[in-house]
Amino acid sequence: MSLPAGVSAKAVRSCFFAFFVALVFELFVASPRAQGDITDSQLESASAGRVVRVGPASGSTGRMTTLPLELYVARVLAGEGEPNAADAARQALAVAIRTYAVANAARHGADGFDLCDSTHCQVLRAATAVTRRAALATAGRILTYNGSPAQLFYSASCGGYSQSADQAWPGAEYPYLRVAPDEVHQDDPSWALNLTLDEIDRALKRAGFTGRLRSIRIAERNTSGRAARLEVAGLTPGVVAGEQFRMAIGPVTLRSTSFSIDTDGNVVRFTGRGFGHGVGMCVIGAGRRAARGENTAAILAQYYPGLELTSVNGVAVRATGPVARAGKSVDVTATGASAILVRVPSSANVRAGDIERVALRAHADMGSALGVSIAPITIRVHESVASFRKATGRPWWTSSVADGTGIDLAPVSVLAERDGLEITMRRAIAELLVARPLQGRPIWIRVGAARFFARVKIAMSEAHTATVRCPSDAELTLAVSAAAQRDAEARAEACFAHEYAKHQDWRAVR
Ligand SMILES: [Zn+2]
Ligand SMILES: [Zn+2]
Repeated sequence: MSLPAGVSAKAVRSCFFAFFVALVFELFVASPRAQGDITDSQLESASAGRVVRVGPASGSTGRMTTLPLELYVARVLAGEGEPNAADAARQALAVAIRTYAVANAARHGADGFDLCDSTHCQVLRAATAVTRRAALATAGRILTYNGSPAQLFYSASCGGYSQSADQAWPGAEYPYLRVAPDEVHQDDPSWALNLTLDEIDRALKRAGFTGRLRSIRIAERNTSGRAARLEVAGLTPGVVAGEQFRMAIGPVTLRSTSFSIDTDGNVVRFTGRGFGHGVGMCVIGAGRRAARGENTAAILAQYYPGLELTSVNGVAVRATGPVARAGKSVDVTATGASAILVRVPSSANVRAGDIERVALRAHADMGSALGVSIAPITIRVHESVASFRKATGRPWWTSSVADGTGIDLAPVSVLAERDGLEITMRRAIAELLVARPLQGRPIWIRVGAARFFARVKIAMSEAHTATVRCPSDAELTLAVSAAAQRDAEARAEACFAHEYAKHQDWRAVR
C-alpha cells in the first residue's frame, strides 16, 4: 500500500490555506506540542497494551519486532503518508492504517508474526514528530462495519474515480469500497508511459504467457473507467485482467489501470491518471480535502461510506461478516506429535479435529502414492471467501493454495458446493508433495500430477486418449474466469495422465 514520493506537488497551491488551517490547529488544538515531541512511551501508554508483531516480507531476511499499536501507526504513517499533508488528512490515514492493522492481525500468523513490513501489508519508516502527533490524536480510533473492524484499502491517488474492491480483485465484495467520483483531481496532469510491443511481450512472458505479442487493446472498461480486460493478440491466453497486466508490467512503471492506449508502429503509448489500485481512501485526495478545510470524519466518510468511526476498545476483535482475519478467533488443534497443524476460525461450522482426520488420511494416501512426505503441514481453513482471497491473493473460484509447507483452504461450506473437502484436501497435499521435485518445470505438470494422484480411482484407459493442448503457466495462474480455470486444470490433468502413461514415473514428466 505504498505511496510513491513526489506525486503530490499540487498541494503547494493550497499552501496558504493549509498554513491557516495549521495555524488554527496549533493555537487551539495542539497545545501539547509546545511541551516537545511525542515520545515512544506516550505512544505505548496510548496503545493500552495492544501490540503489532512486525516481521520481514517473505523472501527477505530480518527479525521480528513487537511495536505498541500507536507507534506502529506513527511509523506506517511515515511510510505511507503524503509528507506535507494537512493534519486532517494525516489523521484520516492514521485511522485507516490502524483499522487495517487490527482487521488483519495475524495475516502472517503462519510466519509467527502479525504483519510484514512491505507493500504486501504496510510499509514502515522512522516515525516523525507529525506522524507521532497524528497517531496520538487518533489513538484507538478505527472504522467498523457491522460492529467489527472493517477490511479496508487505500492507495496513492484514484485519479478522479475510485474503483470498487471487486473490480480490482474479483470476489472481494465490500459495500463501503465502491465506485465514486473524487472531484478534487480535476487539475491533475495525466501521466504517460511508452513501451514497445517487445517490452510488453517480455513482461507477459515472465508472467507465464506464451506465444508472440502482435497487438494490444483494451477489450473492456469497468464502471470506474479503468481497463478491466486487455486483449493481447498473439499470446496465450489472449486476454489479461487489467490489474494483472499492471502487476506484470510493474505497479510503479504502469501507475494505474486508468489509462488509454495508442499504438504507433512498435510503440504502445499508455496515457493515464492516478497512482495505485484506487480502492478506498485516496491519499492525495484526502490531502486536497484537508487543505480545503474538510475534517477527519468528513474525509473518512467520503472514502469509506457506511463505516462507523469508533474505539478499538469497544469492539470485539473476533469478527464476523466480511472481515477477513484469522488472528484471535483461531482455535489451533495440534499436538506436538501430529504431522498436521490445523487452524480453523472459531466462527466456522467445522471442527479442527475433523479437518485433521481428513488431512492425515490424505497425507498417508498421497505420501505412499508419490513416495514423498512433508511434515509438519499447516492447514488454514478460512472463514470466508474474502479472507481466503485476501490471504492468498487468488481469485474467488480457487479452492486451495498449497505453498511450501502450508495449505490455505476456502471455507468448508464452499468446498462442499465444489469438489468436496476430501478431494480438495488430497489435491492440495499432493501439490505440496510434488512441488519440490517438480520445481522449475511448467506448472501444468505439478497441477496435473496433483489432480491425477488425488483421484480416488485412476482409470488408465483415459490417459491414452488424451490429445489436448497442455495449458501454459498463465492459463493456470492468471485465468480470467472460473470456467477458464476449470478448463486449464482439466487439460493439465489430461496432459499429465498422457505423459505418465508413457513412463509410469511422475518425476520424469517434463
Ligand atoms: Zn504482508
Ligand atoms: Zn482521489
